[in-house]
Amino acid sequence: MSDTPLRTDAAVAEAERHTAHNYHPLPVVLTEGDGAWVTDVDGRRYLDCLAGYSALNFGHRHPALIDAARKQLEAVTLTSRAFLHDQLGPFTRALAQLCGKDLVLPMNTGAEAVESAIKVARKWGYRVKGVPDGQASIVVAENNFHGRTTTIVSFSTDPVARADYGPYTPGFRLVPYGDLEAMRSAIDETTVAVLIEPIQGEAGVIVPPDGYLRGVRDLCTDQNVLFVADEIQSGLGRTGYTFACDHEGVVPDMYVLGKALGGGIVPVSAVVADADVLGVLRPGEHGSTFGGNPLACAVGLAVVELLRTGEFQARARELGAVLHEGLRSLVGHGVTAVRGRGLWAGVDIDPGLMTGREACERLMARGVLAKDTHGATIRLAPPLVVAEGDLQFAIARLAEVLAG
Ligand SMILES: *Cc1c(COP(=O)(O)O)cnc(C)c1O
Repeated sequence: MSDTPLRTDAAVAEAERHTAHNYHPLPVVLTEGDGAWVTDVDGRRYLDCLAGYSALNFGHRHPALIDAARKQLEAVTLTSRAFLHDQLGPFTRALAQLCGKDLVLPMNTGAEAVESAIKVARKWGYRVKGVPDGQASIVVAENNFHGRTTTIVSFSTDPVARADYGPYTPGFRLVPYGDLEAMRSAIDETTVAVLIEPIQGEAGVIVPPDGYLRGVRDLCTDQNVLFVADEIQSGLGRTGYTFACDHEGVVPDMYVLGKALGGGIVPVSAVVADADVLGVLRPGEHGSTFGGNPLACAVGLAVVELLRTGEFQARARELGAVLHEGLRSLVGHGVTAVRGRGLWAGVDIDPGLMTGREACERLMARGVLAKDTHGATIRLAPPLVVAEGDLQFAIARLAEVLAG
């Protein structure tokens, strides 16, 4: 063993040489994934506690999802929406049912789905609400993360995500997250939508105060404003329910979904809403070459089928309790705060000890992959197929890291 040269250093250099530097990855080069575990070029195994930012809610290569993809690869993979195909109906019907809505607009990436929701909300504002042409406003929250397009970064409050990308798209009003009074003041007759994450993921897994989502729902209903919930990261089982909005029994007007909808295999995103909202789109007014392709629909349908039994949601609830109990025991021992719901946690590391990045590097050396955010926070979001013993493993490794 010890005289086998490690491949990682060369593999890191090779992976980075011609790759744009818009990420600062941990120096690990993965070759295989299976369930909650991944293997690197040197054969070392790691528990994946990031799960592709929740794109891997069902773990790496879930058999049902791989089967669905493989079957579809043998049939037809792309038709364009100029024609229909036999996977489109089953997928949109199943997803609409899961959401309790009428219609599904299939797209590819999360940012595209957010852009689509913005377009639908504006069109709804002009055609249905009667907002004067060109005046539509959308209320968004500080510290949001909704993606990387020029319009979306226009209303980001993170200078790293936003700087140097102007001129910026107008039409967005920022309010503090969790503050209903500020939201009420920001809404006027030009407001077509409120766009928020029910839990702010990239901001550090920020859970809003109890009653906030209910309050947003009531405000939107009272003011004839669409409640658009970006559940791209929080949805599809992660927090212990199908949607994070379910924690307050709240149904938004539009769900924006992505990440786990593609089963960790292909990018699949969607906007899901009732016909009085999504019905504003007429032929030619919006589209996507790849959106709703047969492979994406086959995988997306298999994802919805996994979620239909509630098994994964229950796992996230039960194992989430184990995760949070373990993490809470570290508060005062190198951890200053823990937030989150279900199998999703933001853990603030005592800045006097080390940065979040350093904590992630040390976790990596002990066989746990996680991601830092905003300096002091690390995010834990293992696949929902994770075993309880794996969680205990991760918590014990974190305790070691913090103990020095
Ligand atoms: C990841 C994410 C997005 C963007 O999704 P992409 O597929 O990376 O474009 C948007 N909103 C939220 C809440 C996300 O977590």
